[in-house]
Order: sequence, then structure tokens, then C-alpha cells
Amino acid sequence: MAQLFYRYGAMASGKSIEILKVAHNYETQQRHVLLLTSALDNRSGVGEIASRIGMQRSATAINEQDDLFALIHDQDEVAAVLIDEAQFMTKAQVLQLTRVVDELHIPVLAFGLKNDAFNNLFPGSEALLIYADKIEEMKTLCSFCGRKATMNLRISDGRPVYEGAQVQIGGDEAYMPVCRYHYNHPDMAAIARRVVKH
Ligand SMILES: [Zn+2]
Repeated sequence: MAQLFYRYGAMASGKSIEILKVAHNYETQQRHVLLLTSALDNRSGVGEIASRIGMQRSATAINEQDDLFALIHDQDEVAAVLIDEAQFMTKAQVLQLTRVVDELHIPVLAFGLKNDAFNNLFPGSEALLIYADKIEEMKTLCSFCGRKATMNLRISDGRPVYEGAQVQIGGDEAYMPVCRYHYNHPDMAAIARRVVKH
């Protein structure tokens, strides 16, 4: 049975490299995968899935109004659908993916953040937590200690930011994966040193 998978993790938890790895595994068996990513993510160019270790490949960039069921239905012989930045999907799109799984019998693996920088769920994350068949956490370490990072601290001009727009595209210069303690008590000196490096 095909399933809808949701793999979530903080920034820098290896989501993109995992997508590229899964895609490679399918393709070594001559099976075609469809790669999707959010058009909002322009860090490495729109429609690119890029990992921090330098690997990158093109994907179909999706917008909020795109019908993912129709998009996937129109493709030939898709063995699996892999989605990066899944937090930016709408609830309607997650429901479309459930139809891809249940009616087209194609497995869908959605990767993304769970909570935003202010610890609210993204729309796509909320829907995936409800509708996914399998949910798995991808782990990474806090930028300040050895604990697991469960939150993303937004940094602007060397200062932590605790309010603002939910969607603000940024990479390692703008977000740090942190544990709950360090979300509330970030090491300001370490942030300052880090800003100098960039
Ligand atoms: Zn910590």
C-alpha cells in the first residue's frame, strides 16, 4: 500500500540531502521519481533542491494555487513523489496528496519544517501531522549545546527575532537550529561571532 510520509526536522537536519538520496535509490532501480519544491524557496534558485553538502538538482516549483493531484496524475509512471519545503503547502494541497496516495497508489514523501520561527505550525505542517500515514522526526543538534534542536531561531542583524512574518526565506545566515532552552536563552556572544564569520 502506498503511504503519505511526513519527515520533519529543524533547519539543517538533512532533509534535502535525504530527498536526493531517496531519489537516487529509486533511480538506480530505473524508477522515475517526481521532485517538487516550493516556489517560495529561492535560496538556490527557484525549483532547486540544494543540500548543505553541495549536492543539488532541479525540481518542479509549486505555488499555493497548484493542484498537486492534477499535476501528478498527468505524469507518466511516477514511482514516488518527493517534496521539499512541504511546510509551505496549503491544507488543500495536502489533501490532494492523500488522493495521490489513495487513488493513484503512488507513495508521497513530504519533507519540511514543523514549527515556524515563532513556534506555530505552518499550514502544510499542520495538515501533514493530521493526514500523514507515517511521521518521522529528522534530528539535528542545537547550535549552542549537544541537545536535539526542535526549534528555529530567526536571526536578523545579529539579534534573535521573536515576532514577524511567518514566511521569511533564509538559510544558515538567518536561522539557527536550537533546543527549547536556547531558543529562549540564546548565546548572544556566539551569535555575534557567527555574524562576523558570514
Ligand atoms: Zn541548546
